[in-house]
Amino acid sequence: MKCRLAGGGFGYCRHGVILILLRADALPTLVMKIIPLSIPTPFYVGDVNVYLIREDPLTLIDVGPKTPEAARALREKLASHGVSFSDVRRIVLTHAHEDHCGLAKQVRDEAKNAEILIHDWETGHLFGRLAKEEHRQLMRRSGVPDSVFDEMQALYESISLLTDSLADGDFSPLEDEMELEFDSGSLRVLHTPGHTPGSCSFLREADRTIICGDCVLKRITPNPILSPHPIDPAERYPSLGEYLVSLARIRSFAPTLVHGGHGEPITDFEEIFHRYVRAIDDRQSRCISLIGDGTTAYDVALRLFPDAHSHDVHRFLAISEAIAHLDHAARENKIAVEMSAGVEYYRPL
Ligand SMILES: [Zn+2]
Ligand SMILES: [Zn+2]
Repeated sequence: MKCRLAGGGFGYCRHGVILILLRADALPTLVMKIIPLSIPTPFYVGDVNVYLIREDPLTLIDVGPKTPEAARALREKLASHGVSFSDVRRIVLTHAHEDHCGLAKQVRDEAKNAEILIHDWETGHLFGRLAKEEHRQLMRRSGVPDSVFDEMQALYESISLLTDSLADGDFSPLEDEMELEFDSGSLRVLHTPGHTPGSCSFLREADRTIICGDCVLKRITPNPILSPHPIDPAERYPSLGEYLVSLARIRSFAPTLVHGGHGEPITDFEEIFHRYVRAIDDRQSRCISLIGDGTTAYDVALRLFPDAHSHDVHRFLAISEAIAHLDHAARENKIAVEMSAGVEYYRPL
C-alpha cells in the first residue's frame, strides 16, 4: 500500500510497517487547539477562563458559573468558533468552585451525550460547601464563633445557587495520570490538590502546556481553602502542604505555557513559582508573628486581615488562609498547638 504524507513523501507499508525518511520540516504538525474563552462571574475575582478544545471529542475545560450572563457569554463565544452547546461531547472540571463548574449540568443537558469529568474528591463541594456539619466542627476547632459561621453559611447558600449539584451518576471521576484522548493527542490528568482537595490540571506533553484551574494564577496567589479531609471528614485537609507539593510537581514538567482559571496565560512559570514560595513564606512568618500565648486561628485571621470581616466571602477566605498557614507551620514544628475544650490554641516555640 502506498500512502501520501505531509511534505509530499511516499512510503510503502510492508507487513504493516511504514518505511519512510521524512525531512524534519515535513513532519505533520498536530497542534491541539486550546482556545481560552473569558466568561463573566459575579465574584470579586472577575472573569473565569473556560478552555475550548476544538478537537474530537469536542471538550470544554470548565464552563463558568450558572448565571444568565455567563450562559449567554459562553454560548456567544463558542458560536464565534463555530461551536454550539449541542456539539460539546466532554466537560472536564478543574475543581468544583461555582465560578468554574456552575453551568456543567446545563451544557451537558443541552449537549445530550456529553460526559462530565471531575475528581471525586470534589463532589463533596457540589453537595454543599459550608453546608455540612463537618465544616462547623472544623471552624469551631479554629475558634470561629458559631454566630460567625452561621453568617458565612447563610451567604454560602446564595453562592451555591450559582451551580447545579451533580448526583453520583452525573459524572465520571478524573484520576491522576489518566489520559484524556483527542484526535491530535492527549491531555494527561495531574491531581494537583491544595486550592481544593480534588483540583486537577491537564498536561499536554508535546509542548509542555498545562491547564491548571486555580492552582496557578498570574496575578494572585490561590487561597488554600479550608476543607474537610475527603478520606476522614472529621479532620482538616492539609491544604497548604499539599498545595506546595502540587506546585513542585507542576514545576517538574518545566511548563512552557500555563493556562490558569483567571487572568492571562503564564509563560514564566519559574518566576511565578518563586514568587509564590516567597509569598507563602512571608505569610507564614506574619502568621507566626501574630500568635501570642494561646491564640486561635480565628484570632490570627482577624489580625491578619482586619478589613476582610465585613464581607463574608472575604472573611471565609481570610479564615481559610490563617488556618492553612498555622496548620502548615505546626506540621513543620515551627509553632506548638494545644487543644483545649475542642479549640486549638497556638503558641510560639
Ligand atoms: Zn477556585
Ligand atoms: Zn476560580
